[in-house]
Amino acid sequence: MGRLKVGVVGLGTMGSQVLWQLSKRGVDATGFETYFPGHSRGAAGGETRLFRNIELEDLRYAPIVARASEIWDDLQGVSGRELRVISGALVMGSPAHTQMQTALVAAHQSGKPYEVLDRAELRARHPQFEVDPGDIAIWDRTGGSIRPELTVATAADLAEQNGATINRGSKVREINETHGGVTVVTDAGRFDFDRVVVAAGGWINQLLPRFESLITVRRLISAWYFGRDAEYLKTVVPFIRTAPTYCYGLPVPDRTAMKLGVGYEDHLPADRPDEVERIARPDELAPFERVIARYMPGLNPYPMRTETYIETYTPDRHEWIGEHPDMGNVVVLAGFSGHGFKMSPAIGEIGAELAIDGKTGLDIDFLNHEGEL
Ligand SMILES: Cc1cc2nc3c(=O)[nH]c(=O)nc-3n(C[C@H](O)[C@H](O)[C@H](O)COP(=O)(O)OP(=O)(O)OC[C@H]3O[C@@H](n4cnc5c(N)ncnc54)[C@H](O)[C@@H]3O)c2cc1C
Repeated sequence: MGRLKVGVVGLGTMGSQVLWQLSKRGVDATGFETYFPGHSRGAAGGETRLFRNIELEDLRYAPIVARASEIWDDLQGVSGRELRVISGALVMGSPAHTQMQTALVAAHQSGKPYEVLDRAELRARHPQFEVDPGDIAIWDRTGGSIRPELTVATAADLAEQNGATINRGSKVREINETHGGVTVVTDAGRFDFDRVVVAAGGWINQLLPRFESLITVRRLISAWYFGRDAEYLKTVVPFIRTAPTYCYGLPVPDRTAMKLGVGYEDHLPADRPDEVERIARPDELAPFERVIARYMPGLNPYPMRTETYIETYTPDRHEWIGEHPDMGNVVVLAGFSGHGFKMSPAIGEIGAELAIDGKTGLDIDFLNHEGEL
């Protein structure tokens, strides 16, 4: 029997990691990408993503994040590139909300260094942030930020160096299960594989309409703001606020500006990601203005840049990681619901293991959506 042939459809955040993991395991791996690995039309744009060790919603993600953290180090070591910058990160919010209560348990269980700061301590150490009365902050000392486009491009480069084939500018039109295998159809022809992993992000429902009832696609706005004076952002760190005042922010590398993001409800549906508006309309910036007025009043409220990116959500915000319901040789990775980037190296490992062995060492049973399609 020859080498196992695995196709990977979509070389964005998850697909590039899957391809790298497959290539390390000696599989005959081939990737297909409509654009090119590292493009910014999908979920992986805007130069930064938050990395935090502290889970806000479901403690069962903790082992996946911990495994991802190990692979981030590996990916950086092998590539010689700084992909994750450990600056520390703040989780702020009201201890009356379940998300902050979960965060406190997660911080304790993580085994990573952390501190709980009251409002006075937070203001003394991180004067850029205003908080609401009674708020606390968790200082996640080994949190920080990730470089999304560079990470995707790097994982794909490493896969190629290991012998994987990458088809750039190659949109997959159809995926069909055949007797004992899977056929992938592009404009260049048909390609036969033993198994296929689909990581098509916001294009999933166009490629696999079976997922329409589970996955919704949204266009998320990122907006960048300068400080009102030269000093304001000099020592600022990445942050996230827990519900019900959810928002987050990440400084640009030279700390002259802060990128802000707001919650799910403030983003429009985007069923056809290739056709969405790529900058924000002025009326869409009101939630950002509220965040600035309330929590970062030292920011100039007029953005110097806005961009939009595409993310997929499931109703319970747990992703689909597993077999396609009708095609046993197709593994689908979808619905990362706004929190996928920090986990992506571990998701790549899980995707590769599922494609090769049909099982993985990490617990993903809690992500089971069987019966929902
Ligand atoms: C603005 C924003 C901020 C975020 N902030 C954070 C954060 O701070 N921390 C965090 O952990 N997570 C964050 N996330 C979530 C994280 O970025 C996503 O969960 C993750 O990037 C999703 O990856 P993906 O592989 O599903 O999609 P993508 O990265 O979009 O990859 C899908 C790829 O498939 C390709 N493709 C699609 N269809 C086809 C086809 N038919 N043929 C060939 N190729 C195809 C696309 O071109 C694309 O490259 C954020 C997301 C957004 C949008």
